[in-house]
Amino acid sequence: MKKYVNIIGAGLAGCEAAYQLSKRKIYVNLYEVKGIKRNPVQTMDTFAELVCSNTLRSTEPANAVGTLKLEMQKFDSLILKAAYSAQLPAGGSLAVDREIFSGFIDNEIRNNEYINVISEDVGDIDPNQITIVASGPLTTPKLQTGIQKLVGSDYFYFFDAVAPIVKLDSLDMNKLYWKNRYDKGETKDYLNAPMTKHEYEKFLEELLNSEKAEMHLKDEESLRVFEGCMPVEVMASRGKETLLYGPLKPVGLYRSKEDKELHAVVQLRQDNAAKDLFNLVGFQTNLKWGEQKRVFRMIPGLENAEFIRYGVMHKNNFINSPTLLNKHMQMKSNPNIFFAGQITGVEGYVESTSSGIIAAVNVARKIEEKELIEWPDTTVMGALINYICITSPENFQPMKANWQIVNTEGLNKKMKKILKKEQYSIKALKDIEEFINKYKI
Ligand SMILES: Cc1cc2nc3c(=O)[nH]c(=O)nc-3n(C[C@H](O)[C@H](O)[C@H](O)COP(=O)(O)OP(=O)(O)OC[C@H]3O[C@@H](n4cnc5c(N)ncnc54)[C@H](O)[C@@H]3O)c2cc1C
Repeated sequence: MKKYVNIIGAGLAGCEAAYQLSKRKIYVNLYEVKGIKRNPVQTMDTFAELVCSNTLRSTEPANAVGTLKLEMQKFDSLILKAAYSAQLPAGGSLAVDREIFSGFIDNEIRNNEYINVISEDVGDIDPNQITIVASGPLTTPKLQTGIQKLVGSDYFYFFDAVAPIVKLDSLDMNKLYWKNRYDKGETKDYLNAPMTKHEYEKFLEELLNSEKAEMHLKDEESLRVFEGCMPVEVMASRGKETLLYGPLKPVGLYRSKEDKELHAVVQLRQDNAAKDLFNLVGFQTNLKWGEQKRVFRMIPGLENAEFIRYGVMHKNNFINSPTLLNKHMQMKSNPNIFFAGQITGVEGYVESTSSGIIAAVNVARKIEEKELIEWPDTTVMGALINYICITSPENFQPMKANWQIVNTEGLNKKMKKILKKEQYSIKALKDIEEFINKYKI
């Protein structure tokens, strides 16, 4: 009889894990709820939907997330194959057409002979079956209860927000200009909306006085806004200048000496292959929709902007991994249950996917009765898992890829920043290669 691994959630981590298991000739029951009901940010029927930004961030090895991608490619990552097949020009970033991206993955998964797709809102997790829980930051309420039963009270929330998207042909191109920050990349991919000091101050005032959507929060929940994806109005409330050092910073966007007078610049990034939709970079928000239209139309060039999606803010779930998981992504209290993706407290599309590879490789080894393995903490993949497993449980917050969490002991720190990072990258890639060879992964 065929033995199946259950995977809950056909998102980035779940699809990657299913694909990795199928490559190892292991059968998978992949459960996904979106065919029955979508969550508030899902808009497509296909798997592995990018619900907010359409970029998988930097491809440069000196950037930790760039190296993370290179490490994942050594495992033949499905998600990265899809991303490169759907790539859009975006300087040094891996931006994608979200429909082509998700369609590629959906097709691969649905036509994979080892993967059995089941449309279901899973509730309880059977502790006796090998399972990877990859239900993401918007795990359904039914499964939240199921997970709570499994992990006890060590269950957290925080809140995340999505940025609006506007139509290119509704923008005033006389006021906007094309430029990538510091002219990175070969093509000019970003549209920029420059603001004078007066325009910025007026905009800020209206932003701060705008009406926010109600969230019906419990008191203890209201404090948990995740710093990495903070709503623009929350950031603005932290000080008059905060946005000028965040999404509205003008540096690297000057066209001429005169432009040094520019006070603020809003950037818009291409959102689809047709290049007719653009998202407002860093403008994730919880403003009421009417207010988004009113306030964001104050940005020069956006006076008549047509919004094809408004920003929204919502709950984002993750477990207390330092208490619950070991470095194999396995529950300490139940060797059959593995977790992967954002629900473990890794943060971001690429990071979530990479944890799907780690969980799948270890599940495959468990089935093959081999020892489970820990990724070296000198690699970005390993450092992320190391971080979520050993950080203090009391202060645990989700973590993106960055060099601070990677073990760089013994490497030369007395060199230029960029060379130092390139050195970390070379070491990480060498170590991942050795690791793959050692365990014949
Ligand atoms: C609103 C929002 C915006 C974000 N924006 C970004 C961003 O711009 N950039 C970035 O890098 N990261 C972003 N993230 C963080 C994170 O990287 C993404 O959420 C990413 O998709 C996480 O991957 P995942 O595989 O863990 O979860 P998901 O991709 O969310 O996949 C989980 C899947 O599980 C399914 N599921 C849930 N419950 C059940 C159930 N009970 N039974 C069956 N299936 C179930 C869901 O329908 C979903 O398809 C955002 C997160 C949120 C919530």
